[in-house]
Amino acid sequence: MLKGKTAIVTGSTSGIGLGIAEGLAKEGVNLVLNGFGDAAEIEKIRAGLASKFGVKVTYDGADMSKPDQIAGMCAKAISEHGGVDILVNNAGIQFVCPVDEFPVEKWDAIIAINLSAAFHATKAVLPYMKSKNWGRIINVASAHALVASPFKSAYVASKHAILGFSKTVALEVAEKGITVNSICPGYVLTPLVEKQIPDTAKARGITEDEVKRNVLLAAQPTKQFVTTEQVAGTAVFLCSDAAASITGSHIAVEGGWTAH
Ligand code: NAD
Repeated sequence: MLKGKTAIVTGSTSGIGLGIAEGLAKEGVNLVLNGFGDAAEIEKIRAGLASKFGVKVTYDGADMSKPDQIAGMCAKAISEHGGVDILVNNAGIQFVCPVDEFPVEKWDAIIAINLSAAFHATKAVLPYMKSKNWGRIINVASAHALVASPFKSAYVASKHAILGFSKTVALEVAEKGITVNSICPGYVLTPLVEKQIPDTAKARGITEDEVKRNVLLAAQPTKQFVTTEQVAGTAVFLCSDAAASITGSHIAVEGGWTAH
């Protein structure tokens, strides 16, 4: 049912975004990959997905903190692929620091990439989706869209806000065959999480092993990291016909974290 559709997955050169891109490619979805990284490595990912799954895969290096580049990526995707049926707003960054020491430029970057980028991309692709009376927008939020942790003020604020944005757009397009939902993953062991372990250790005055055991997995009753495949499977489900009546909602994939 998804075969031949086109998806933009922002931040898909790594981690969860790459997992979602692969999950969609498996269903026959053509892809626009996006994100930073080594050019040769990105080309290897692009060509690998295209040949493994027999889908068209292009790459756009738009910086998701730059509204004009986001609009350019969406316009190019529509002209090169003939349309954008699925938008996965996934690109995101983190910074861990007490709020009274939080650098202003880090706050601004987190809000721009984790929140405003979703607005710019959604705005750019909605006219096409409306014209087709079909669309799927998935915002990769976080368990931190539902609960807070100390030292992550900008991230928690951006993730709570993306849920509100997601619900609002869902209401606006509810009669147009377009669903808008968020996925709230718990901890997935990607570079984003690996990078914050030393800062969390510093902020809390504990070792990096203690951060993994007593801070990250302490929140997850399953005591297991969530996998990129589990998040990807949820995204593919949200794109399916079975999920056509799920909109303005979120699915928590967080090992029971927010059941506390
Ligand atoms: P990651 O660091 O592995 O991947 C982030 C991706 O975003 C990369 O492809 C990176 O190049 C891209 N990116 C970063 N800044 C960008 C920019 N300015 N423009 C374009 N691309 C940019 O991180 P991840 O863990 O896979 O995170 C993906 C999403 O999942 C984020 O929104 C994150 O908040 C969310 N999330 C992650 C976890 C987790 O535990 N890893 C948990 C909940 C939610």
